[in-house]
Amino acid sequence: MDVKTTMTGPVDLPLPLLEPVPVAGCDVCEVLARDRETARRCGDLSKVTDCNVEIRSHHQEVAS
Ligand SMILES: [Zn+2]
Repeated sequence: MDVKTTMTGPVDLPLPLLEPVPVAGCDVCEVLARDRETARRCGDLSKVTDCNVEIRSHHQEVAS
């Protein structure tokens, strides 16, 4: 048997450019950004993505 199933490569962090920047003075962004950093520290990348989506989407809704 010569099958290798190791997945021990370095964890790729999302590129900063792909992450929405929290809007200054926005309470929602502030909370989401804090959640995002906590999730990232825990390795919970799906939560990180969720926070990114929310940071982006709640401003798009307001813009209508
Ligand atoms: Zn916001």
